[in-house]
Amino acid sequence: MLSKEQEIGLSLWRGEFSSPLVERDFRTHTAGSTAHDLRVALWSWVVLLLVLIFAQAARYGLGSGELAIAATRVLVLAGLLALLFYSKGRPAVATDGRLVTLLELAFFGSLFLVYYFRAANPAFTIAITLLMQIAVSVVIPNRLIFTMLAAAVGAVGTVLCAWILNMRGLDAIALYVVLACLLGYLSARRQHLMQRRQFALLRRTEEINVRLTAEIERRKLLENELKHQAITDPLTGLYNRRHFETLFERERLRALRNSSSLCLCLIDLDFFKRINDRYGHEVGDRVLQQAASLFVAHLRQTDFVGRIGGEEFVLLLPDTALADARPLIERLRRILAGESVDADESDITVTATFAITGVDLDNDTLVKALRTADKALYDGKSAGRNRVMMAESC
Ligand code: GH3
Ligand code: MG
Ligand code: MG
Repeated sequence: MLSKEQEIGLSLWRGEFSSPLVERDFRTHTAGSTAHDLRVALWSWVVLLLVLIFAQAARYGLGSGELAIAATRVLVLAGLLALLFYSKGRPAVATDGRLVTLLELAFFGSLFLVYYFRAANPAFTIAITLLMQIAVSVVIPNRLIFTMLAAAVGAVGTVLCAWILNMRGLDAIALYVVLACLLGYLSARRQHLMQRRQFALLRRTEEINVRLTAEIERRKLLENELKHQAITDPLTGLYNRRHFETLFERERLRALRNSSSLCLCLIDLDFFKRINDRYGHEVGDRVLQQAASLFVAHLRQTDFVGRIGGEEFVLLLPDTALADARPLIERLRRILAGESVDADESDITVTATFAITGVDLDNDTLVKALRTADKALYDGKSAGRNRVMMAESC
């Protein structure tokens, strides 16, 4: 089984992502905050260095050895200020870490010089070395590998100086600097791994979010599609009978509230069976589709068109008085009769019989209104078809 770190792809000893691409992504992502942390650390370093330079000049004066020590410190100081200036607006300098490593090495070098010139009193310098080892590990942001390089150079250089200068307590000095290195490594590594675990978690959350958003989008589309399928007839795209019942009820209540009128018109294509028999079912379907499009195209956007049976359609006309509905439907009848549908070799024309009824807003249901219209439609068929009938309310 993979450990958590392996799953994330972390190199435990380097404290970085094993994949250079992911590591680069991480560094780009954290560059801003790393650059800020680096600036804070560099400024603190500048202040401490200034204190060190002035305090030691006051204490030891400026003999040739002290001058050499002060000169190297001033050089480090200049390097710090240069880095502060150069890294402004360049966050990549902070995440790259090479320049700050150079300054850390230069500072440890300046400490070795102190051992040489003040061999009799190394305790203070050893303390500063230890502090600097901890500082490079936990305060100054840098890649773990560079951090450890600087801390190790500090440790090895100090032990070498102590050995060359024959200092007392060499073993204790070695123990301190090596321990400082080890502690520094462990805490820096912990910090590095923690930041990267958080980053991996963030990326994972972002990925899940993207997938969830896509899934929600897909489900919304599916839901809309299902809703559409539930209320429409697949052949013509018109409202189906079930949804028409809802529409009828809604429009009846609206008309009642507004004291307006509502008309319903039942349409039945004439001799449609013959078209099927003669040209085939597919052509029949095309005729149904064309009739549906024609009804929709020639009515107002506020009117409703539904298909409630094989070749039977229904129209609901809000804000329309019975007297106004008649010419409107008559026009529709003429347009339908004048249109032709392509059937393989010949053009087919189709007519329909229409029956209009005014909806009784207080008492009608769709079933009742259709029943009323159906009677008139029947009369229209008997009277020769292709005509508009006015139904008498029951
Ligand atoms: P009338 O003028 O008296 O209304 O005669 P008609 O032939 O139109 O009426 P009838 O009720 O005898 O026939 C209706 C035909 O409509 C019968 C059926 O096969 C056909 N039909 C019903 N639904 C569909 C469909 O979805 N596609 C096709 N192509 N035909 C259909
Ligand atoms: Mg019929
Ligand atoms: Mg018919």
